[in-house]
Amino acid sequence: MRFAGVAKRFGPVTAVADVDLTIEPGQFVTLLGPSGCGKSTTLAMIAGLELPSEGRILIGDRDVTSMPPAERDIAMVFQSYALYPHLTVFENIAFPLRARRRRMSNEDVTRKVRDAAAMLGLDQLLDRVPREISGGQRQRVALGRAMVRTPTVYLLDEPLSNLDQQLRVQMRSELKDLHQRLGATMLYVTHDQGEAMTLSDVIAVMSAGRIEQVGAPRDLYDWPANLFVARFLGEPG
Ligand code: ATP
Ligand code: MG
Repeated sequence: MRFAGVAKRFGPVTAVADVDLTIEPGQFVTLLGPSGCGKSTTLAMIAGLELPSEGRILIGDRDVTSMPPAERDIAMVFQSYALYPHLTVFENIAFPLRARRRRMSNEDVTRKVRDAAAMLGLDQLLDRVPREISGGQRQRVALGRAMVRTPTVYLLDEPLSNLDQQLRVQMRSELKDLHQRLGATMLYVTHDQGEAMTLSDVIAVMSAGRIEQVGAPRDLYDWPANLFVARFLGEPG
């Protein structure tokens, strides 16, 4: 996946300014930066929910810059993961497969949902509704819903932000596992340095709409490019 000169302005506000970034297939890449630095806006442009003011976005060799979201082969887990409260865990996960244009048979839907649920340890909870399961389990349902679509790229916007510390740590290693098993490209967003350091192959540190530095976690830590990166990585998460 590649960004070339991507910028997004909302009226007078520049949310993202001139971002260049290349992500190799299968990598776990984290956008790390403080609140308001443009992380969610960046994901929204990849997902096709916002149109860049400037620049191009490529997935593989396809220019997706102005392609409709449904044609992009991505799945997104939103910052405030929203489950359908009246639907069971099964139906929440199955939701993207029920879209008319997919015309998937009931057997195929069941098989896909069961596979995802097994991978996420949700097999025993398929008949419950969201209010009958824990926060961590809900988070996994949101992941399951992204997984059944088996996209090439996953966009994960602070998917652990609603969890307590213990669950966050547990879910971190589950996410890492999942990434290894799926082999998909994951673009992850967080403002938590510890999370970025443990999960990522590559971290892109953002500040005020710009990418300050891109590199392996260890390299950023040992060789920060500037004071912002050094200070931000040095702060407790
Ligand atoms: P957080 O960590 O708090 O989620 P973020 O890094 O995801 O922050 P964005 O949501 O991408 O930040 O926002 C970047 C900047 O763009 C902010 O200044 C925000 O106020 C502004 N912004 C985002 N969306 C809009 C919009 N639809 N209209 C106007 N301004 C927006
Ligand atoms: Mg955000």
